[in-house]
Amino acid sequence: MTRFEKKVWLSSPTMHGDEIKYVTEAYETNWMSTVGANINEVERLAAEKVGCKYAVALSAGTAALHLCTKLAGEALYGMPKAGEGSLRGHKVFCSDMTFDATVNPIAYENGEAVFIDTEYKTWNMDPVALEKAFEIYPDVRLVVLVHLYGTPARVDEIRTICQKHNALLIEDAAESFGASYKGKQTGNFGDYSAISFNGNKIITGSSGGMFLTDSKEDAEKVRKWSTQSREAAPWYQHEEIGYNYRMSNVIAGVVRGQMPYLEEHIAQKKAIYMRYKEGLKGLPVQMNPYDAENSEPNFWLSCLIIDKDAMCKQVRGETEALYIHEKGKSCPTEILERIAAMNAEGRPIWKPMHMQPMYMSHAFITANGNGRARTNAYIAGGIQDVGADIFARGLCLPSDNKMTPEQQDAIIQTIKECFE
Ligand SMILES: *Cc1c(COP(=O)(O)O)cnc(C)c1O
Repeated sequence: MTRFEKKVWLSSPTMHGDEIKYVTEAYETNWMSTVGANINEVERLAAEKVGCKYAVALSAGTAALHLCTKLAGEALYGMPKAGEGSLRGHKVFCSDMTFDATVNPIAYENGEAVFIDTEYKTWNMDPVALEKAFEIYPDVRLVVLVHLYGTPARVDEIRTICQKHNALLIEDAAESFGASYKGKQTGNFGDYSAISFNGNKIITGSSGGMFLTDSKEDAEKVRKWSTQSREAAPWYQHEEIGYNYRMSNVIAGVVRGQMPYLEEHIAQKKAIYMRYKEGLKGLPVQMNPYDAENSEPNFWLSCLIIDKDAMCKQVRGETEALYIHEKGKSCPTEILERIAAMNAEGRPIWKPMHMQPMYMSHAFITANGNGRARTNAYIAGGIQDVGADIFARGLCLPSDNKMTPEQQDAIIQTIKECFE
């Protein structure tokens, strides 16, 4: 088995040179705060790329999602009193198979997340399950949708359902910057949208995020909230709760230097995805799927899912996993172990939120009803838990854009050996 001298990462930052130029510029001119030319420029560039009117640079994608959620809460239920979240106990439908940063802002605003099951077609929110959820909870007025691993969700179907039920949509495009759906960039489809420049995203500022909108009023509100909600007055005057969520001009310098390389990174990630797809042909596995007719992913992470009948025995507790190797079969735990032994980084699929201990008491709706009603495994009493199934059979492969074709071939070889 090959062992790489230098670790092959899942997805790590790739710098190009201009980043340090803009950071130095900020340094030498003493623009080392949350004001400056880099911030203005990255906001302009992001809005231009996505095709929306306004972008507000923030300290993280999570901060952007929090302020999206707060805007939605206030639009729906009015301004809260201090200490009272804007969602005030109201239920919110949200993607289930995702990073917890998508859904935690609902809790920050005192709402109650209801998890909507995943579809096999894109690994994103299942429109059928969403419609089912509105049947069960007709009063819900807010939906949070993620484009997982850079693959656009079925936006038209989801938006149509939202409109039918008079609900607002928050779009978490943290992983999908540069991906498009029916020719339009993701980050354009929500009433409120967010992207991230976290260190492992397709381009990075080391950290950072952005709120995206066509509404001047919302952009101004987010700008104000993110800088402690100061009113126009000679002293620190506050009418609303504020946050320290603004992007630093130093971070913005890194993002500014990265922006011109977004398309290059996407091309590299796509080549990685295609090489896996080709190299894994003949094995009982599929790559993470996308709707090629209507969408162009940014291919942020390449993932695979093992065919049901090619899964060896695998058991997962809350923090540990065990498996038994079987001839001709494998499982994510085995493949991840073997990849780690090569000094490369893979990762399980995002563990669905309805399976997380902190959200165990929250409702979970599948295409055929209340997902909490199932008695065991993934299929029982007609209830199919797609998220749990993809989590059990899927994994994220090393997808770093600095990985060489030779390194990738060695990883493919190791995966083949897992099935021997
Ligand atoms: C990374 C990520 C976030 C959060 O972005 P940060 O910039 O890390 O705060 C939110 N949602 C998803 C789906 C993400 O992958």
